[in-house]
Formats: sequence, structure tokens, C-alpha cells
Amino acid sequence: GARGADPLLDGLNPPQARAVEARGPALLIVAGAGSGKTRVLTHRIAHLIRNKEAWPSQILAITFTNKAASEMRERVAGLLGDAAEGMWISTFHSACVRILRREAERFGYVAGFTIYDSADSRALLKRIIKETEADSYGFTPANTSAKISRLKNELSDADTYAATANEADPRERIFVEIFRTYEQELRRANAFDFDDLIGQTVHLFRSHPDVAAIYQRRFRHILVDEYQDTNHAQYSLIRELTRSVDPDTADRLVPPVREREVDGTGAIPGASLTVVGDSDQSIYAFRGADIRNIVEFERDFPGAEVVKLEQNYRSTQNILSAANAVIGNNFDRQEKNLFTTEGDGEKITGFTGYSQHDEARFVAEEIEDLHRAGLAYGDIAVFYRTNSQTRALEELLIRSAIPYRVLGGTKFYERAEIKDAMAYLTSLANPYDPIAWSRLLGVPKRGIGPMAEAQLAVFQEAQGISFHEAMLRADEIGFGPKVRGAILGLGELLRAARMAAGGGGTEDPEVEKKPTPVADVLKLILDETEMIEKLRAKRDPQDEARAENLEELVSVAREFDVRNPGAGLLEFLTEVSLVAAADELDDQSGTVSLMTLHTAKGLEFPAVFITGVEEGLLPHQMSVDEIGGINEERRLMYVGITRARKRLYLTLASTRATYGDIGVAMPSRFLQEIPDSLIDWRQTPGEVTSRGGTESRALNAPRGEGRSGSRSSRSSGRPESSVVFGRGGGSGAAAVAEPASGNMQSALDKWRERKRL
Ligand code: ATP
Ligand code: MG
Repeated sequence: GARGADPLLDGLNPPQARAVEARGPALLIVAGAGSGKTRVLTHRIAHLIRNKEAWPSQILAITFTNKAASEMRERVAGLLGDAAEGMWISTFHSACVRILRREAERFGYVAGFTIYDSADSRALLKRIIKETEADSYGFTPANTSAKISRLKNELSDADTYAATANEADPRERIFVEIFRTYEQELRRANAFDFDDLIGQTVHLFRSHPDVAAIYQRRFRHILVDEYQDTNHAQYSLIRELTRSVDPDTADRLVPPVREREVDGTGAIPGASLTVVGDSDQSIYAFRGADIRNIVEFERDFPGAEVVKLEQNYRSTQNILSAANAVIGNNFDRQEKNLFTTEGDGEKITGFTGYSQHDEARFVAEEIEDLHRAGLAYGDIAVFYRTNSQTRALEELLIRSAIPYRVLGGTKFYERAEIKDAMAYLTSLANPYDPIAWSRLLGVPKRGIGPMAEAQLAVFQEAQGISFHEAMLRADEIGFGPKVRGAILGLGELLRAARMAAGGGGTEDPEVEKKPTPVADVLKLILDETEMIEKLRAKRDPQDEARAENLEELVSVAREFDVRNPGAGLLEFLTEVSLVAAADELDDQSGTVSLMTLHTAKGLEFPAVFITGVEEGLLPHQMSVDEIGGINEERRLMYVGITRARKRLYLTLASTRATYGDIGVAMPSRFLQEIPDSLIDWRQTPGEVTSRGGTESRALNAPRGEGRSGSRSSRSSGRPESSVVFGRGGGSGAAAVAEPASGNMQSALDKWRERKRL
């Protein structure tokens, strides 16, 4: 159709257009959910490029998940076509990996470094804890890795921590020792853990201003989505990247600095920074996210312009009113009220089951109804607070033959057989990684036991060579003939695989890089080790599923090769290690999506179910005693509600089994915060105080303590929608819940196994 003067501004409201056109050094876009923040970022990038104000290579856009990154890339490409190529649109982690791969050698790493996921880190910590006998002090891999992660997010390391630690406390001393050993072991393995990716990049920039200058000069426009969830390390990275380059360093830059890049003093001015965020959606405090980053933006970046967006384009008014009402109970926030011109839409549907199975049954039935009414399964999402809630839901979805997918459950790449195969690939890229080596020596079984492994490691260290070289020199170690043969054979296989992979990229940079497709390298390994055949030969359905997973991995690699012609093993390993929970969403248009509320951030669906809206779950028990804990849970509820476009369901159960005990569940305080007039209850909490029973209807039942006064006045016109809250209503609850049938349970296990979920 006929378009206005600027198609990139045409579909935007005035403040959105302002946010696209502003050209100051720093811009903060604060706005509620669904107000077009992400859309504005996309248009801003396209606008800069189309107006020839920036080359694509000068743009760095940061998103929270890889999924969001690829969506943004597609949208920019949709607006610009080919012109979008060469832009960095990625997560913090991916951007940092790209930088580290290029620069790692400058601070003692090799480009082929491994990225340890949380399982790898914990495996390493487990060993260290055992060696230092720290377990008797209560150190576990889980609590230690959480603490280390927290410190790294604050850019602290073992030395800085030790400086402030209480020397008199033996636990502190032991922790410092673990932390320090952990750092040393990572470095020896030529590996980074997830938090290092960001922390080490900051460290690199601070210790090597010349390296920093390369990126400070390159990126002229930096844009960050979901800024409210950045932690200190991420914030510091942004600060480093947006610094101006002083005249001296600028002088020494290769290629030389052009005249028009510098300001009057000969310095290169800092990149312009655009951040968008909503402090009401900050839900990652437990990972060190710091809401102050957004609150103090104007102080941190002087001259910043602030744009507010208030019109919501996603949801109906009823959904928005519920969201506004809930978040309005957080007192420590800036007032903002979302509105829409979409109209009220349908009411929110409420339902209380007598057990989580009854709740799940309702969800499944409603999904079927929505589907019959013409909604695609892919338009429907079910959210929950904790992963353990999926079991009852999945059971009913399977029974109803509804196609679904769990996002962020046990992930494909965390499965043992996949990790085994990946260990082979990792060892090709990083011949120093002991976790990978120790894994591949044992799979498949070939008679190389822990003793032989230890001997190899000692030899390797004494000679100062890689594991691979140590294997090839097994003759010198004095193994028996069988073990020696096995080690040499494996060494040769890996040599062949490395040659195929194009020199491996680490030990011999002189080898010309002509990488064989990753899928072929992987197939070579799988064929030679007979990993798949050996699994099949066991004739066990579980092992059959594992064999299928390995075949699936070959397909994944094949797809990667097609998508990234000319890329090699390193790129593949990088991609695999960065896949995050929300990234598995691709092309799942035909399935209902199940996910935690955390994973749902930034997404939208026509129909949304929030399940388990109960005290102890949402808000979660753990949050109750924490300072600010309830407020964070309330923001989580707000994130959940605002994902819905047209239909929203809030469901709960009046009894719930946790850890095998069946307990009475109370409706969440957040339900109470939503005006009655917005919810259409199919079954109120008061209607189910015993198994399926409706005898104690809520009509005139006594109110819970606290806010009863205002509620009764609000709901007086519609007694059937009133709800019993608080401790008053649950006393008669019978502790009866449907037991999950054994058959169903094992069918479920099998099915999940097959789907690798
Ligand atoms: P969240 O806080 O959840 O991340 P957001 O502020 O990033 O939300 P978007 O995802 O950018 O919001 O936009 C929400 C929806 O509204 C999208 O479907 C988007 O296409 C649509 N939208 C945004 N602005 C407009 C507009 N001016 N006209 C029409 N649709 C719009
Ligand atoms: Mg967004």
C-alpha cells in the first residue's frame, strides 16, 4: 500500500519514532511489557544503516537469548535485505566468545579453548573438593559453583576474594583454596567457564587497552535489550566498550585511524549506547542482575536521553489491567501504567483443581478447546515456576495426544552419550582439556582404566605436551601390550580426525585451513569407535534411544555445515556450548510450549496458562524469607501475565504433592491482587476444599485475614466469582490426590527418553 515518507518510522507511535531517531551519546528507553522496546531497537538499527550513518559492522546489538538474537537478525534483514550482513547481533556470551577466540592468545590461552558448561564446572569442582577434603566442611559442587559464579558476576576472583576473606574462619580459607585451584585448573585445561566468558573479556580490555581500542573503535552503536537483567560484569563490559579511545592509543591503531573518526583532541569518541529495559521485569537477581544499572543509567552515562513508552501493542486491556494491578503492589518502583487501544478482550479464566492432576486435566481440556476454536498449538504456552511441575502436565498432555515441547528441561547436549561424542570433538580443538580426555578414554570401553589414564596424565605433564601427543608416545610409558595398542589406536584415530577437521586450529597454525564438514568428522569418529553399533548391539530400548540421539547429533552437525559454509569445528563447538534454554523454540509452530516463567521472558503467545498460582510456588517458598524476594516473585508474575496476547488462564490446585507429601495449597497472594471483575472463575479456590467436592462453596464463606474489606466491596455484585483466600478456607481439605498410575509413569519416562526431553 501507499507508505509515508519513512517506512521505518511509519508503523511507530511518536515516542517510539523519537527513540529510533535520537542521536545523542546515550539513550535509555524505559517502558512496560509489550510496548515495542524490542521492536524499536530493531527499527533503530535498520534506520542507522539505511541512512548510511553506520556500517553493519559498526553495530553491536545484545539480546538475552540466542533465540532473541536470531529473531532480531531476521527482523533487521526483513527491513533491510542483504545490507544487514556483518552485524553483531548476539548474546553477551556469544559476543564475548567471538572476542576471546580472536584475542585469547594475548593472555595465555589458545583460540581452541573449551567452554565448560555447568556440568563440566561441577565435575571439576567435585574433584577439587575431594582432593582438598572440603566436603566435610559442607562444600558441595553445587553450592561452591553457585558461590564462585556469584563472585565472578561481580568480577571478583580468588585473589580479590582472599583479600577480604576472614582468615580466622577455616571455611573461608578452604573456599579460597578451592576457588584458586579451580581457576588454575581451568587455565591449565585451556578452558573458560560460562561466567569467565564475560569476566575475562572485561579483564582483557582492562589489561590490554590496545585490544580494547580495536573494539571501541569498531562498534559505533551498541544496543542492549533487557538491560534490567544485566549483572555487574555485563555492565562493566558495556562501560569498557563505550569508552573513548585516547589520542595516543588511537594513533597506534591498525589500520590507521581516519580523520573523521577522531574528535577535536585526536581521541576517538565513545560508541553511542542505547539500552531498553523495564525494571518491573527484572527477574534475575539470583544471577547477580542489578536493577541499579537501569536506575542509575543517567548518572553513569551523562547526556543520556530518556524515552518512555506507555502504549502496549501486545495484550488486551483485561490482561494489562491484571498486570498493572499486580505490579502496583511493588512499592519501590516508578509508577507507570500501560494502556492499549485493543479493547477489553475476554476475561481471564481462573481454575482451581483439587490436585495438580485435576489442574493439569483442566489445562489439557482447555488447550483442546482452543485448538478446536482454531488456535494453532504453537500459539499456546504453559508456564510454571519450577521444573518439577511439568510431570503432571506432561502426563495429561500425552494422554490427550496434544503435541508439546518442554523448553529447558534436561537438554539434548547434557545427555551422557552426546557429551561423550562432543568430548571427542572438543579434544580435537583443545588437546589440553582433561575433562574431555578423561571422558573419551572411557567411551566406548577399550580397556584404558583409571590407572592408565593417570599414567598418561603424569607423562603428559612431565613432558609438557598435550594429551594427544602423550597418547601417540604411549610406547615410552611402559604400558602392557593391550593397553598400549588401545591408546595408540585411539591416538591415530584422533590424528586422522584432526587432520580432517583442518589442523584443529590450535597446535599447528601453519596447516592450511580447509575444514572438512563437521558432520563428516563426527561420522568418522562414530564409525571408527563403533559407538552407535555398540549401543544397538545391547538390544536395550534405552540404548536404542541413545543411538538415535547420536544420529541426531550428526544431523545437527549436518545442518550446521549447510547453514555455515566454510565454518569449522571451532564454530560448531562454540555454537553448541552457547545454546540456551529458550533457544530450542525454533520451528515448533505445531506444538504447545511448556516453560518456566524465567524462560518466557521477551516472548509472546496468543494464549497463555500460568499454572500453580499458589503460595509456596508463586511466590516461591525460597523467596519468602529473602529481602525483596516477594517483590522479585511479583515481577515474575508480571512477566508471565504480560506474555499473553488474547487469552490468559490462571490455574492452581488446592492440594499438591511435593517430595511425596501431599499438602494443602493456598491460593497465591498475587491472585488476590487482581480485581475480581477481571477473572472469570470456572472453579474458585473456595469450591474445592475436598476431593472434587463443592460442598463448602465460597459464596458466603468467611474471608481470609488482611485485605478482606476492600475485596468484599469490590466483589459484592458478583458473589459467584468470589474467592476464599488466606488460611480460613483450607482447613477442611482432605489430603487426597490422584496417585499417578505406575504404567503412566513409565510410559512417560519412555516417551521423554525418546524425545530426549
Ligand atoms: P517485552 O517487555 O515483553 O520484551 P517489548 O517492549 O520488547 O516487550 P515488543 O516485543 O517489541 O515489546 O512488542 C510487542 C508486540 O507489539 C509485538 O508483537 C510488536 O510487533 C507489537 N508492536 C510494537 N509496537 C507496535 C506499533 N507501533 N504498531 C503495531 N504493533 C506494534
Ligand atoms: Mg522485548
